[in-house]
Amino acid sequence: MDEALRQELANWLEFYRELGIEEFYRRAPESGSLLAAAGYRRTADSAPGGGTPPAAAKPALTQSKPVVSVTAPVPPLRAGAAQPVVLAPPIRPPAPTLSLFEAPPTKPGGPETLEQIRADLGDCRRCKLAGGRKTIVFGEGNPHAELVFVGEGPGADEDEQGLPFVGRAGQLLNRMIQVIGMKRGEVYICNIVKCRPPGNRTPEKDEIETCSPFLFRQLEAIRPRLICCLGAPAVKTILGIKEGITRIHGQFYDFATSKALATVHPAYVLRNPREEKILREDFEKIREFLKGK
Ligand code: URA
Repeated sequence: MDEALRQELANWLEFYRELGIEEFYRRAPESGSLLAAAGYRRTADSAPGGGTPPAAAKPALTQSKPVVSVTAPVPPLRAGAAQPVVLAPPIRPPAPTLSLFEAPPTKPGGPETLEQIRADLGDCRRCKLAGGRKTIVFGEGNPHAELVFVGEGPGADEDEQGLPFVGRAGQLLNRMIQVIGMKRGEVYICNIVKCRPPGNRTPEKDEIETCSPFLFRQLEAIRPRLICCLGAPAVKTILGIKEGITRIHGQFYDFATSKALATVHPAYVLRNPREEKILREDFEKIREFLKGK
């Protein structure tokens, strides 16, 4: 393999590793899956470099265009899936599209239901958050929602009730949902981790790595038109963007067959009331987006 290709491949692998994706499997995506829609295809053989990896896996978001294309992150590799692999990069449109993610295929038989994903999660003990939680907060709402909100992780109220965004931040989120003419029951709400981090700290890398595959499966099951990432950890997990949220909020990104938009976390607005205008502006964009068919 030539050196440039080797280096590019190393970039990809390093990027995946940061996202917690360390294993790859050699099955082609099912037609109709998010990943197939994102252009994933199987390599012709098992050798790396069956396609052309991008020059750099991590984007510099310097584009002026508001829409940036991000291919789908990953539902996870589950036990039972087989051989290690190299996925071909997605067949993607030319610049300025930014390609961030490679992904293993979805489950044979097509997308799962939320109930199946919840059942698979079970009484989860996969990470250290399990020890401190009272309740797993899987997510709540319309399984066919056009709009999904993804927060960080459950707080004390959510941990008590087993439902996402039911505390003060949740009340603000509810208000914002009403402001754009929707009801909470119409949308779907979930988090990047399903168990409360101690003291409401930000979820740690290993916790996100362990839990986010369930989030990606939820997103694939729902296939919303728009995913609203609430706060930086959700943006980083879903879009791989590390840029400050106040810089990238309100822009629309491609996420497989959905769009994704980042805004500030309601809890941040509660602590910094002057930033409410960011939330309002971004929710107006959500309203406008959902109005268009
Ligand atoms: N903050 C979050 O990020 N998620 C919740 O469910 C509640 C508060």
